[in-house]
Amino acid sequence: MITISYSGLYNELGVLMAADYRKDKDGDTWHFCSNCSSWPTVNYHEQRLPPMTGDLCNECKAKRREGNCR
Ligand SMILES: [Zn+2]
Repeated sequence: MITISYSGLYNELGVLMAADYRKDKDGDTWHFCSNCSSWPTVNYHEQRLPPMTGDLCNECKAKRREGNCR
């Protein structure tokens, strides 16, 4: 069991998601829905754990809220 403290970045979502997180190598915005219109497909960085820095994509957050995140 690993306990990690997360910053306010995740308050909006309320839960931590097991997902792949991607961001453009040049950018600061993380995406976690593969159906996001901005989902990086080339030249991206990917990780399993929720990112500790940067911003989460607003479109991805909206999809998540709508239950439309794939
Ligand atoms: Zn996104």
